[in-house]
Amino acid sequence: MPINEVKIVRSCGTCGTEIETVTVKKDNMMLSTKETVWCPECQADRPEVRDVAGRLDSIEKEQQSYPKAVPAVPFSDRSSGSSRG
Ligand SMILES: [Zn+2]
Repeated sequence: MPINEVKIVRSCGTCGTEIETVTVKKDNMMLSTKETVWCPECQADRPEVRDVAGRLDSIEKEQQSYPKAVPAVPFSDRSSGSSRG
C-alpha cells in the first residue's frame, strides 16, 4: 500500500520544544507555515516549525546500511574482476 500519510512534528520555532505530532495527507503536507502554536515551554504563542517525523530515522537507517570500512585486501592471484575468461 502506498504511503499517503506523513507524520509531521510541530515544534516551537523559538525553543525547539516538540509540541505534537500530527498525521497529514501527503498532498496537504506543508512544512512552511505562518501559523503560530502555543508553546508550553515559552508560555507564549510561537512561530510553528514543522518537520517530517521519521526523516532522521530513515537517514540513520540508511547510514547504518552503508558498508563498513573494509580494510584493503590484497588481490589474490585470481583477478576479482568479471572479465570473461
Ligand atoms: Zn518554545
